[in-house]
Amino acid sequence: MNHLEEIRAKLAIEEVVGGYIQLKKAGRNLKGLCPFHNDSRPSFTVSPEKGIAYCFACNTGGDIFKFIQLIENVEFPEAVRILAQRANVPLPEFKPEAHNKRLQIIEMNRSSAKFFSEQLQDSDKHKKYFLDRGLSEETIQKFKLGYAPDSYHALKDNLEKIGYKENDLINSGLLNQRSIADKNTYDRFRNRYIFPIYDHQDNPVGFGGRIIDEGEPKYLNSPDTPAYNKSLILYGLNFGKNAVKKEDLAVFVEGYMDVIAAHQAGTENVIATSGTALTAPQLKLIKRYTPNVAFAFDQDAAGLEATKRSIELAQEAELNIKIVTVPEGKDPDECIKKSPEKWIEAIKNAVPAMDFYFSYALKQYDKNTLDGKKGILNLILPLIKQHQTEMEQNQYLERLALELKTDIKLLWNDLKNFNIKKTYSQAKQETDQVPVRQIFSREEFLLGFIFHKPDLYNLVQENLIDSIPFDTRTEKFYKACRKVYNRLSTIDLGELKKELEPDDHEKLQIYPLLIEEHYPDFGDDAMEREVINLIRTINKTNLHNVQKEYEFKIRAAKDAGEKTLLLNQYNQILKLTTKIN
Ligand SMILES: [Zn+2]
Repeated sequence: MNHLEEIRAKLAIEEVVGGYIQLKKAGRNLKGLCPFHNDSRPSFTVSPEKGIAYCFACNTGGDIFKFIQLIENVEFPEAVRILAQRANVPLPEFKPEAHNKRLQIIEMNRSSAKFFSEQLQDSDKHKKYFLDRGLSEETIQKFKLGYAPDSYHALKDNLEKIGYKENDLINSGLLNQRSIADKNTYDRFRNRYIFPIYDHQDNPVGFGGRIIDEGEPKYLNSPDTPAYNKSLILYGLNFGKNAVKKEDLAVFVEGYMDVIAAHQAGTENVIATSGTALTAPQLKLIKRYTPNVAFAFDQDAAGLEATKRSIELAQEAELNIKIVTVPEGKDPDECIKKSPEKWIEAIKNAVPAMDFYFSYALKQYDKNTLDGKKGILNLILPLIKQHQTEMEQNQYLERLALELKTDIKLLWNDLKNFNIKKTYSQAKQETDQVPVRQIFSREEFLLGFIFHKPDLYNLVQENLIDSIPFDTRTEKFYKACRKVYNRLSTIDLGELKKELEPDDHEKLQIYPLLIEEHYPDFGDDAMEREVINLIRTINKTNLHNVQKEYEFKIRAAKDAGEKTLLLNQYNQILKLTTKIN
């Protein structure tokens, strides 16, 4: 048994989590108030059986090590040290090993970053990509931007020549293993533009790779390793921490290119998350440098949603929040390319979070209908009530009255009659529940059932059209299922694990926990029925999408022959649709 396993065997997840929050038994699991968001439900589920703890409202959690990392805001080796001590597992032997592992990965990454950077410098064609996007030679060097060649072993050969062992390279996430049957390894990053990711102490902890031209996934990141914990890393902070202190403000943007462009434009207090949505530990990290944050996310629907969730997290972290509206195009990178001055202006003109909520509410609801007005009031009034002075409150109510074409006296009444405690927790409950519904798709629920009870996959194989739904987030899981099923005529979770990247392994436990959460008392029959329902709905949605696609193609077809062909295919799909309805 290695040390990690020994610690895991000695410390039960409920014991570790129970040291921080109160847990109550709920069926086969335990529940408590989530320590990572302002929870009122309780939403934090602890599964003694699976050895994990997870919150489906804010999507945070993991095994005992991940939990300690998150709650103590420490990196992996430190979390191991803390737990080793608690479990009475001899520490001196272990610490250097964990520590060395981290250092070794950082060294491998440093060599890889050098390799990728040289590849870029050697290729005018690929360097042109960054130059065309407005980056200077100096910026390319500073951020050590690189190119991963279109080869399955270029990096591997290079690193093995330096003396690194294949097994260590797998652990660092630089190499992938093909499958159980085929132990051969290949470069994780191929034919991609490379953004090395540094921690705030300037260590290269991982990589982000952007696809060249089109394809999925657009960005591929290193998996979590002893060196790289996505929920603790802020991209650009190694270069920007002094600027953050000096400006007394940290500006969050969405992408790597946004950060780089912003730094080149002279705004070095700009940072981004890498491979995750904003997390509480990241905010804790930034609070060491400044109590003031601004969010400059994309102006599309997803960006709005991200802004709203980030505001809530930042409020819980007791940070002062402003919102930057990016002019000229939808993200900072585009804006800076057109006009760096406008970007700098936009940061100066950042507005308080309240202004953001006004425009958010007006976008979410139709202010001309009674229901819409109610929705807006339910969202805005609790926020107004949080403000200290009547003067501030009056200012916002005036604005609300104007927008809703109503009398401010009525609004004052509404505000006074608003039972803040009850309504706020209700509103909170709604926001707690909404992400669950939005974040987990039907395809993910279906996977939950499969991982919970692998026999159910037979139903998928028989009834799901093509057995792989069009859902980029879950596609790889379905492909892996199909592969394993084709080989063994059954789903074996151990085999499935081998078909997936280490990054995706925790989903094998999180998805079924989702099922335990939502269908606590379902017996076998009820589960089967639910699975069949899910498959039916997924089929319907997929067919509907295909149908729409054909309708578009038919309208666009110029040639009569082509049109007839498309119409024939379209009729087949219609037939299939009526069949499943
Ligand atoms: Zn939570």
